[in-house]
Amino acid sequence: MTSKLDSVTRNIHSAAANAGRKATDITLVAVSKTKSSNAITPILDQGHRVFGENRIQEAAGKWPELRALYSQVELHLIGPLQSNKVRQALRLFDVIETIDRPKLARAIARISQEENISCQYYIQINVGREAQKAGIDPEEADSFITLCRDELKLPVIGLMCIPPADQDPAPYFLQLKEIAKRNGLKKLSMGMSGDYQVAIRCGATSVRVGTAIFGARS
Ligand SMILES: *Cc1c(COP(=O)(O)O)cnc(C)c1O
Repeated sequence: MTSKLDSVTRNIHSAAANAGRKATDITLVAVSKTKSSNAITPILDQGHRVFGENRIQEAAGKWPELRALYSQVELHLIGPLQSNKVRQALRLFDVIETIDRPKLARAIARISQEENISCQYYIQINVGREAQKAGIDPEEADSFITLCRDELKLPVIGLMCIPPADQDPAPYFLQLKEIAKRNGLKKLSMGMSGDYQVAIRCGATSVRVGTAIFGARS
């Protein structure tokens, strides 16, 4: 029986091939938010190791135990991070994809030094300039990237976005790619269950897929 994970992996391979890209250049982040450890274990048993969670408390309740059972897990924070949760986030996650304001960037720089922890980071860009969404506005991206990378010395590896719902995401994905390119950033975290193939065509190096792997969230 082919699993949902297999289908997503196959789709990633064909989207990459259609775009003339190598599938190995695209990381699948399996978004396990709201899913129990029992639902996550089968995915780990299939050999998958890269996961995304959007809440610190929830991740703290599941992942220390799962990490004790499965080696080489790579956990990504893909939801908003409050400054007072930075210490806990740095201990739990390998990659933080949601740096979205100077205060948070400064807190991460200070606390990662204190804790001697080195995560990898993405900066979240609010490509649709939506009031309800987190992220740096596109016109402020260049100066914010400079702050994080050059002044605070954070190892920023790329950009992340969540385009507006119910619109063609491609122009937003291409906008993210352009901002990354002019700032010399190589990684693009973009694309979810509904649009990861489009994102791959637009240059995604990482897609964050939940529903298509785990089924609907209740
Ligand atoms: C929930 C979530 C996803 C996954 O969404 P699906 O539509 O279930 O694939 C991806 N990125 C972020 C930031 C999310 O919060």
